[in-house]
Amino acid sequence: MSLTKKEMIAFCDRNLGGYSKAKKIAGSTLSLEYADGATGIVFHTTQIILKKANGNIQLFNGGFYTKTTKDRINEYTSLKVRQVKGSWYVNGKLFYEGIEFNSKGGLVTEDKTTDGAAQKALLKKIKAFSNLVGLVDGAQKGIPLPNGGDCWYCSLRDNKGVGLGELSGNVDHLLNHIAEGYVNGSLIANALREKGYRDEAIGLHLSGTFGLDSLRKSVYDYMKKRLVTGQESNWKAYLETIAEIEAEQVA
Ligand SMILES: [Zn+2]
Repeated sequence: MSLTKKEMIAFCDRNLGGYSKAKKIAGSTLSLEYADGATGIVFHTTQIILKKANGNIQLFNGGFYTKTTKDRINEYTSLKVRQVKGSWYVNGKLFYEGIEFNSKGGLVTEDKTTDGAAQKALLKKIKAFSNLVGLVDGAQKGIPLPNGGDCWYCSLRDNKGVGLGELSGNVDHLLNHIAEGYVNGSLIANALREKGYRDEAIGLHLSGTFGLDSLRKSVYDYMKKRLVTGQESNWKAYLETIAEIEAEQVA
């Protein structure tokens, strides 16, 4: 979908104050001049580039990791955006909304680039957590069934079956569960649902018919999808949160 200049200017007037001039420079792309000497590039309804008066360059994509957005940044700045497995790297640094570089291309805001170490450490935590399925205090025990006393974010669902955790975008409870080794029945049931099992089959699963390995794998994949995949910029923070909760428990 392409926007007309008029539509784009209406958007800019509503959302971006203080510019003095707007010019269409490419399809669905405007350049803006601000009174303080800054310039902006707006693509569709996101100001993707803000070149500040001091020469710094700030980037946004509004959540749209599209090829054209990437191409526009590469074309209209001296910065280089690369896409690797769905993530963007700008001059080698992990992109996030509002990331800012100086005129020489040096990062001036927080560096959220993580090496593989954080990812590995987090996956290891998730693996240890999923291996707790079927164990209580290290001893082989039955699988916990979903019940009303489970974590609300795990157990409450709306009438379409979407969980409160998903609806609210809350992953803190998952970090808590990892730190506390709390594999509740609702979480296991959610993991199985995500594998496509229906409630009847989940009942059989939890009664032990399907074996521990597939249960553990389901929980592992469920946690990985929420905490690892596409969460590069949060890996370090997640690990820190888990470590903090673990430390509190020992204390
Ligand atoms: Zn929970």
